[in-house]
Amino acid sequence: MTSNHKGAGYYGWPMLYGIAWLVCALVALNLTQGEDGIAAVWPSSGIFVAALLHFGPRRRIITTAWIAAASMAANLWAGSSFLATTGYTIANLLEGYLVYALMGGSSAAKLILSRPWNMARFGAAAILAGCFSAIMAGVLSGNLTYSFLSSWMSTVTLGMLIMTPIILFIAQDPQDRRNLLSLRSLWTALVVAILSVAAFGQADIPLLFLPVMAMAIATATLGLSGAAAALVIIATTGSVLSIFNTGPVTLFFDTTEKQVFFFQLYLVALLVSSMPVAFLLAQRGRALAEIAENARLLESAERAAKVGHWRFSPVDNSARWSREALRICGFDADSQPSLEDWFDLHHEDDRERVRSFIVEATSHALPFAFEARIRRGNSEIVHIDCRGEAEADRKGRVTALFGTMLDVTERAETMRQLEAARARAEREAAEVRMLAATDPLTGMPNRRCILANLAEAMDASELTGDPLSVAMIDIDYFKRINDEFGHGVGDRVIKAIADILCDEAIGDDSVGRIGGEEFLFVFPSRSAEELDARCIAINDRLGSTQWEQPINITLSIGIAELKPGWDERDLLRAADQALYDAKHAGRNRHSVHTA
Ligand code: GH3
Ligand code: MG
Ligand code: MG
Repeated sequence: MTSNHKGAGYYGWPMLYGIAWLVCALVALNLTQGEDGIAAVWPSSGIFVAALLHFGPRRRIITTAWIAAASMAANLWAGSSFLATTGYTIANLLEGYLVYALMGGSSAAKLILSRPWNMARFGAAAILAGCFSAIMAGVLSGNLTYSFLSSWMSTVTLGMLIMTPIILFIAQDPQDRRNLLSLRSLWTALVVAILSVAAFGQADIPLLFLPVMAMAIATATLGLSGAAAALVIIATTGSVLSIFNTGPVTLFFDTTEKQVFFFQLYLVALLVSSMPVAFLLAQRGRALAEIAENARLLESAERAAKVGHWRFSPVDNSARWSREALRICGFDADSQPSLEDWFDLHHEDDRERVRSFIVEATSHALPFAFEARIRRGNSEIVHIDCRGEAEADRKGRVTALFGTMLDVTERAETMRQLEAARARAEREAAEVRMLAATDPLTGMPNRRCILANLAEAMDASELTGDPLSVAMIDIDYFKRINDEFGHGVGDRVIKAIADILCDEAIGDDSVGRIGGEEFLFVFPSRSAEELDARCIAINDRLGSTQWEQPINITLSIGIAELKPGWDERDLLRAADQALYDAKHAGRNRHSVHTA
């Protein structure tokens, strides 16, 4: 409970309602003073009901107190007895609360009168309350004549029907309030007032159709609240001017009573006939606002999701693009480019593919989905994911293509980076694998690699039954070379011999360095006898090699062929044995292992 909330304004409004009630009552009473003065409308009743319908509990009670005081004051001023005044006041208050109760009590504030059913319910409640109030006032003041009862009832009911809606529209709906406080509203009010004065300000011509026109104009320009406001102006003008015995009603009726009754019926007819159009307009306004809101939400959703939509009609070759679709493509926000313009945006490599997707979908009423690249602003590449379907008429003819366009540039960029990282990792792994299998000095397969090759060759030989031979090669007296010429020369000799051996490895043959100056040759599908020529060839190459120092390099070679039941170790041991034999036989030769 802050002071802000319940400050001067909070208590001021009930008082203002009280004053308005008093002023309206005094004017009505004052104007009808005289021989047979009868008010056509009692606007005060409508003011009270409006307060009850939109104030909270506290302000409702305060307003009631103010209005009770105003009612007492007005009636005493008009010369009624204290007893009758109290009776009128009680009737005034009870009628208001009856409408309030019939409109749902504390939940009445939710019944916005711009809905037709709420207005109908309000009309019925006002009529009931008018009858009830008339009887109450009649009983309490002791005046139960027909003319008193009927005039009380009709003035009170009309007062509610005319005053309550306009007050509630202004109080409850900011849009209506703005509407009624606009310049347009001022002009409309002026037109309504002029037409009303023209109709009621003279008694020569029955210009009663002019206020009907005024109602139509006000409804068309300002909707429901305009109709309500126009009715207030017409009722006021008509009531005030009729008092001075002018107005076309005096043409038809001789007694004031009949004139007033006719005028009241006339006002009811105006109210009832303007309502349907007014409600339709209100409904249209709400529907338009809803459509605008939905469009706004769709736009926000598209912006957040980076997905736009488009619709292409092959019938007239027209295309429509959502704001987000235009943004993704880099088109102007208020342009509607053709499909051709859109094709042109595409990357040269994608353009024809995209065009064929669209042509296919159009000619066969097929759904479509594709990814493509477009150039935004001639440089920036945007990846889009398009999908959609064809709309066809009953005969299956395509009338339109509807598609979505998702900006997947970020995803595509991430995928590209992932792919690059994967390729790099693969390259590095291959490098590592290669390094792990390569002898660093000679660049030829190392021990691990050549032994793996041997294992593979043995598996194949076992499977096919083909022979398999190996040759163990060792440089003769290599230690001396190191000792005489240094390790550097030794290294270069090892490298040169490795090159020769690699050159001699043809077809499925493979060779690797298995130790310091020892190499292993694997010959799949070869028997030991077949290796003779190969060993001679190797030795020939060696013999014709020019060394940087005056040295004579020879090799000893031990050859072995795989025997049934042998494993790797057996085969290598056999080759080693043959090598040993070659060394012992004087080196610079090859020897074949024999069992
Ligand atoms: P044999 O004819 O009996 O094979 O005599 P050898 O001197 O060649 O044999 P030994 O096994 O006695 O000596 C091999 C030498 O090879 C010993 C070592 O210093 C040398 N060696 C081993 N690996 C390398 C290498 O990578 N570079 C160099 N420069 N020398 C190496
Ligand atoms: Mg050796
Ligand atoms: Mg050696």
